[in-house]
Amino acid sequence: MKKIIALYPGTFDPITNGHLDIIERASSLFDRVIVTIALNSSKKPLFSEDERKEMILQELKKHKNVEVGAFRGLLVEYAKKKKASVIIRGLRAISDYEYEFQMALTNRKISPEVTTMFMMPNEKYTYLNSTLVKELAAFKGNIKCFVPKFVEKKLREKFKNRL
Ligand code: ADP
Repeated sequence: MKKIIALYPGTFDPITNGHLDIIERASSLFDRVIVTIALNSSKKPLFSEDERKEMILQELKKHKNVEVGAFRGLLVEYAKKKKASVIIRGLRAISDYEYEFQMALTNRKISPEVTTMFMMPNEKYTYLNSTLVKELAAFKGNIKCFVPKFVEKKLREKFKNRL
């Protein structure tokens, strides 16, 4: 039987409990999941590629079929290289929908063999994003319920000498 490989692309700057919720769901559905750091996004990341990978890997220990990757360029090209037939995206609120709809249809047009699938996280994560967590951390707010322990520590270190 053909193994189904799924990519879960994003900035992951840093990984949050919302991302982990999606990873857990995907891990139980697909044979292999590759959490894929997009390196050419227009966002200017706080963490380097290695730092982001380290934080993701720390959280992946319990999922044997999940690994981490990174790419520059077109996501569908990376999918071909990895023999992935699925792209997973998380849908939080209606505000995600328009951009995701446009991306999914564009990717399908240029690469019909790759299917984008959307997953909804537990409702307690629907308002959560990495930007919010970074802003809270910058002002020494409590981020315990938004990110795993290791990520919390890394964020604290990043902002230690600021303010
Ligand atoms: P962000 O900077 O908004 O957290 P990313 O580029 O890292 O976003 O997101 C990667 C993928 O994970 C996207 O599909 C995004 O919709 C999804 N995602 C991000 N945060 C959450 C969350 N809290 N719940 C579900 N999906 C999420």
